[in-house]
Amino acid sequence: MYVDSHVHLQPHSAKPPPAMDLERIKRFVEAAQANGVERIAITEHVFRFREAYEPLSGWLEDDGQPELSATLHAYLKDQLSANLADYVRAVEEAKSRGLPVLLGLELDWIPGKEAELRALVEPYDWDVILGSVHWIGPWSLDSGSAIDLAEWERRDVDEVFETYVGMLRDAAATGLFDVLAHPDLPKLHGHRPSRPGPIHAALVEAAEAGPCAIELNSNGYNKPVGEAYPAAPVIAGAYKAGLSITLASDAHAPDRVGERFDDLAQLAANAGYETFAWFESRKQRTAELASAVGRTK
Ligand SMILES: [Zn+2]
Ligand SMILES: [Zn+2]
Repeated sequence: MYVDSHVHLQPHSAKPPPAMDLERIKRFVEAAQANGVERIAITEHVFRFREAYEPLSGWLEDDGQPELSATLHAYLKDQLSANLADYVRAVEEAKSRGLPVLLGLELDWIPGKEAELRALVEPYDWDVILGSVHWIGPWSLDSGSAIDLAEWERRDVDEVFETYVGMLRDAAATGLFDVLAHPDLPKLHGHRPSRPGPIHAALVEAAEAGPCAIELNSNGYNKPVGEAYPAAPVIAGAYKAGLSITLASDAHAPDRVGERFDDLAQLAANAGYETFAWFESRKQRTAELASAVGRTK
């Protein structure tokens, strides 16, 4: 049976978003079990939480690009939906009732805000913290909005990848994160570095700086790029470097939990992996890949 190490309780689009409560968590657990997933880490976006907004307002520095900054500001305001303390309480209640869930957080890395990030997560007993880079300054890499997509036309794609990987390396080096989420995210719209080899090697080196586990994320199959994160050479490099891998759907709704995990397992096996990792109380556990395969859609 698999462990899905990256699951969100709220879709980005629903207004108002569904409450992050025990009933919602039960729906995800039922969907997981129907799909060959034994356990899920609930890893809501940090930017959902009101406690995060003020201390992390470095997101809003405009970087000389007031239009992007205004777009980001509006997005972050729009996504605020809950209190971090209430979220933690709900997941801990689910755990105390025996539901197979883990308390996680998808924590954006924001340069210059290490102390604030640390203070935000410090009060709680996390199972796993995912490190993500979704933004370079105020520019969203994975947004489909016109202004963010237009920015790709203005930028040098190689420089985007280099900047992104550098941010990921800085994030990993803080020790704040257990796992690097969707490690080659900038490819999602189909952009590729002109010389992928050095970028792929730098991604592996970024994870080694933690060290952090590398996440194999099936949500990339649903994006224009049409493949999992990260690219196969990164998985191969991670294996050679002795890094662990986790499996992730990045589901924002119950029906995607565990999606295409057999395909992720195949990618891992192709690179040499025989086990996958997951985290409990921030300690790594491992399970056999072979015994998990064959149960998911
Ligand atoms: Zn993410
Ligand atoms: Zn996510």
